[in-house]
Amino acid sequence: MHSAIKAILLAASLCMALPSAATTGSPAFDAMLRQAESVRSADPAQFESLLGQLNASIDAASKPQREQLQYLKAYQLAYTGRFDLGIEAAKKLFDQTDDVNLKFRSGALIVNGYAATRDFTQGLRYLDQTLALVDQVTDPDLRHQGWSAAGVIYNQVGQFEQGKRFAEQMLADQPSPRTRCFAGALRLESMYGLGPLSGEDAAIETLMQHCTDVGEIMAANFARAQLARLWGDRGDHSKALSLLYEHLPEVESTRYPRLIGEIHSLLAEQNLALGYRTEAEFHATQAIRNSTGIQHSLPLVAAYRVMYQSAQQRGDTAAALEHHIKYAEADKAYLDSVKARELAFQLIRNETQQKTQTIELLNRQNEVLTLQQQVTAKSTQANRLLIALLAVLLASIGYWALKVKKMQVSFRHLAETDALTGISNRHHFTRRATAVLEQCRKANDQVGLVMVDLDHFKTINDRFGHATGDWALKAVADACRQACRRDDLLGRLGGEEFALLLVGCDADASVALADECRRRIAAIDTLPSGHRFQITASFGVAGSRNCGHAFDALLAKADDALYLSKRDGRDRVSVQDAGGTPQAALSG
Ligand code: GH3
Ligand code: MG
Ligand code: MG
Repeated sequence: MHSAIKAILLAASLCMALPSAATTGSPAFDAMLRQAESVRSADPAQFESLLGQLNASIDAASKPQREQLQYLKAYQLAYTGRFDLGIEAAKKLFDQTDDVNLKFRSGALIVNGYAATRDFTQGLRYLDQTLALVDQVTDPDLRHQGWSAAGVIYNQVGQFEQGKRFAEQMLADQPSPRTRCFAGALRLESMYGLGPLSGEDAAIETLMQHCTDVGEIMAANFARAQLARLWGDRGDHSKALSLLYEHLPEVESTRYPRLIGEIHSLLAEQNLALGYRTEAEFHATQAIRNSTGIQHSLPLVAAYRVMYQSAQQRGDTAAALEHHIKYAEADKAYLDSVKARELAFQLIRNETQQKTQTIELLNRQNEVLTLQQQVTAKSTQANRLLIALLAVLLASIGYWALKVKKMQVSFRHLAETDALTGISNRHHFTRRATAVLEQCRKANDQVGLVMVDLDHFKTINDRFGHATGDWALKAVADACRQACRRDDLLGRLGGEEFALLLVGCDADASVALADECRRRIAAIDTLPSGHRFQITASFGVAGSRNCGHAFDALLAKADDALYLSKRDGRDRVSVQDAGGTPQAALSG
């Protein structure tokens, strides 16, 4: 029974209505294609002749038209039983075409072809690939074609739940009347596969009526066979028999061996159940005849069983044994085929699971790689940021260090320098002079200390103002600086008093340099100050030979000599002699 319904469903799914071909090539070719599509199942002869004509005018066809013709050729090969060639042609199209609808259609044809040739492994493989496209298929009839192929093959491999699911999917998707008939029959077959039918009488009768109405005699009679079986199982053998006999001529008229074999095997079983052995054996023989070439079918198993049981009941042990052997063989072959089909399903399921797991694994690996890349990018970014931060930090540290250094230098300069004249202030001069004197003392070098005091400076201030006095102080400092050598120290002791420390100078050399300063001061041109006046200064010199290397003592002695210069009339140089008495030295 199963394989028979499957076969009819296969034919049905191959015959489903087609979407209108959207082609851009020759309109005449298009019209012929449409005609071929419409007659391909109903009128095989005209279909074949149309294919011939289409082939002859192939030069005028566009690519989509050629591909549609390719599909029709594949269909024709399968429909006329040349499944291998049909599958081959459909596969080519499946691989080549860019048209997803045509690819889907070709896939469904391949699945049906493999189902018919019982290569379920390949059939299920192509089913997966075909169903993967279903979301892109917009035409419901095409979609149903794929689901139908799916339902048929799943039922064949014993996956009736799946078969039922696809049937119900079609029924819920506003199917065309013919599709409703096939989907109903597919659902019925799935339910029978899932367990004995019960209470389905009304539904089956409705289905039978619907299939009859749409002219699908074979599907109607396969449904009828189910109803008869249901009644027979319930003990209503007479009712089952009258139903079957009533439609036997119609069944015979289909010339479809699977259906005819199915009905005869049922007639045999029901007759035997009522004890009509002759009729039972007759119908069993008919069933066996119609199942020739159809291996592993349940009607064949049932027919041999009837033959053996009937012979046994007749007491014909030899015949009973002979039929029992055939029955056992057919039963074993059938069970083997069921196992083989289930194995095919398991194989594909494993393949699919492996594929899914591999894809899952690859996805995970990709995720890990992406995360790694993100981490690398982040850490590179973080490193860059860190480097940039460090660079900024270093730059600012450097900047601040430099700034602090500059500030230190400038503070020190401020602390050591007399703001007005730019020469050392008293404190700095004292510190440096003390250090130099100590060095000279150790080295036994002579040093001269010169004190300078401007003459009547108060008068300059009084006469020309404090600013002019300041100008004069600066001019004096410059004049002394110009007179000094590189290593000599010059400082402003305060007010209008200056001092010079002359390294390596004895008293005479010191007096000479002091006089050089005196002359330069006296020669200052005061006009740039805005006033014309004379500047002079008095000098006191103390040498280390006479006064020692102690700064304070030297300064005091120089001051004494200076006092002498003032007293003697100013604008002159006095020096401490060996006896510690100041002496006039040089004057202007
Ligand atoms: P002598 O010849 O006796 O040294 O007479 P003098 O006027 O130079 O001496 P005195 O000590 O009487 O006066 C010094 C003056 O120097 C008093 C003060 O106003 C002036 N003085 C001190 N420091 C500065 C200064 O920084 N700028 C100006 N313009 N004047 C100053
Ligand atoms: Mg003074
Ligand atoms: Mg003075």
